[in-house]
Amino acid sequence: MPLYRDQGVALRHYKLGEADRIVVFMTAGHGKVRAVAKGIRKTKSRFGSRLEPPTNVNLLFYEGRGELDIVSQAEAIDHFRPIRDDLDRMTDAMSMLEAVDHTAQERQPDARLYQMLVAALRTLADRERRSPLLVGAFYWKLLSMEGFGPVLDQCSTCGAAASVGAQLVAFDLTEGGALCRDCRRGRPVSPEALGLLTRILGGGLAGALQEPDSALTQEVAALAVHSMEQHLERRLRAAHALDRG
Ligand SMILES: [Zn+2]
Repeated sequence: MPLYRDQGVALRHYKLGEADRIVVFMTAGHGKVRAVAKGIRKTKSRFGSRLEPPTNVNLLFYEGRGELDIVSQAEAIDHFRPIRDDLDRMTDAMSMLEAVDHTAQERQPDARLYQMLVAALRTLADRERRSPLLVGAFYWKLLSMEGFGPVLDQCSTCGAAASVGAQLVAFDLTEGGALCRDCRRGRPVSPEALGLLTRILGGGLAGALQEPDSALTQEVAALAVHSMEQHLERRLRAAHALDRG
């Protein structure tokens, strides 16, 4: 059987038979890969712990005959222990993994998506204080990368521009983004939220991640989850695990 090497983040896994597990990876070179990890439920092996989400691993695969490959070796690049040791951070990580799982195509290389995920997980692990906007910002970046970056400075239906006095009061990603009073549909949005969104997508991400938790960060984060769900046409389970209120 042919072998290949790649790097990948373990997104999720599920049981296969008595002792095996299927692990779904977002890889750097092969897109989303589903592979069998043999025997890892029988023993408490380090091999198994390296295949726990959200670990980033160097992998050696055997190419399988069907859709499933076989994980032959796994060496951790990032354990992300600070994420695993903190339930809120782990929920943030799972929210990002879930969106990537539903966005990435099997066997369609997407190195940028892999790199963006690893960078976001490293930020999540390294920051002293958890940012209320990290997951939301990741969703906005992901939507942009997929070609669904929202229009923020004018009405996405009639084109009335904020710079000439149009009031943008609503947001609907399926319409293209912000909407004026006349064209409004979707969800109401505040001018401050559109401003913060512009910063996130316009090169001001690092500053936006410093924002303390507030009604504004919650509005932008909730709009991100809603828009990602609209785009994927499904509810994101992990993203609602931290809903409070
Ligand atoms: Zn309009």
